Amino acid sequence: MKEIKLKAKAKINLGLDVLRKREDGYHEVRMIMQTIPLYDKLTMRTAEDGQIRLQTNLRFLPVGEDNLVYRAAKLLMDEFQIKQGVEIDLVKYIPVAAGMAGGSSDAAAALVGVNKLFNLGLSIEQLMERGVKIGADVPFCVMRGTALAEGIGEKLTPLPPMPKCHILIAKPGIHVSTKFVYGNLRADALKEHPDIDGQIEALKRGDLRKLARLMGNVLETVTVPEYPVIRQIKETMMTCGALNAMMSGSGPTVFGLFEEEAAAQEAYRMFSEDGDARQVYLVS
Ligand code: ATP
Repeated sequence: MKEIKLKAKAKINLGLDVLRKREDGYHEVRMIMQTIPLYDKLTMRTAEDGQIRLQTNLRFLPVGEDNLVYRAAKLLMDEFQIKQGVEIDLVKYIPVAAGMAGGSSDAAAALVGVNKLFNLGLSIEQLMERGVKIGADVPFCVMRGTALAEGIGEKLTPLPPMPKCHILIAKPGIHVSTKFVYGNLRADALKEHPDIDGQIEALKRGDLRKLARLMGNVLETVTVPEYPVIRQIKETMMTCGALNAMMSGSGPTVFGLFEEEAAAQEAYRMFSEDGDARQVYLVS
């Protein structure tokens, strides 16, 4: 029996723009993606019975074909006609259905894991090509780092890493479906678009303040009027000294960027003790 342990890291969107709705219903996006050191843990081991078996610490998550980890493992194992099976333990820390690509990142880790466990010899690029069949964010989760994502999110251009800072993450206790958000977005009626090119420039110069100042997410036009708690969390983070605060992806998680560690720690304490957030994390 062979066993490996993997980390599946979350992402935030430093900028998220939607250019248009395509004829096929997908939205064409332009986003700055950033991996953050908040992760789920996967342990994968080979099994002799040819089955894929998944277990997770969250009872409400599916453990069959509906889990992206299962789907990712099956995709590679079918393609390479692997006769052995695999057992996967998934321990979730990334908030679920939160705009942080938790499921996509777990799927990316499963692809990496199956590739290693069964010595398939696939390159990162080859894993990314397969990942897009599972979800638009999966190739980025395989690649990691900082990137411009275009198309439906799968066309990736690596960018310089974001300057060092402290990231406070707060997820309110509400559920927001990605389908609802995109379904209610009026892409052709957006009055403002975030300056994604300006953010790329800021990354190239290592200018954290400019990067933060230019943060923008057009999906807030749908979620903020519907769920006022998102605005409240943003405002509290700003009062606590964040350079800027914004919703990640389709939400409802909000993140704030802090230059000063003491201010970030204080804000973390405040959100943890009481307030609008159910899950709170501070990462650097
Ligand atoms: P994104 O940022 O890509 O929109 P998300 O944070 O909105 O992702 P996920 O946490 O990936 O959303 O989960 C969305 C739904 O997908 C969940 O409600 C869950 O039922 C299903 N799901 C399938 N596999 C997983 C997984 N491994 N982890 C979490 N959710 C999963």
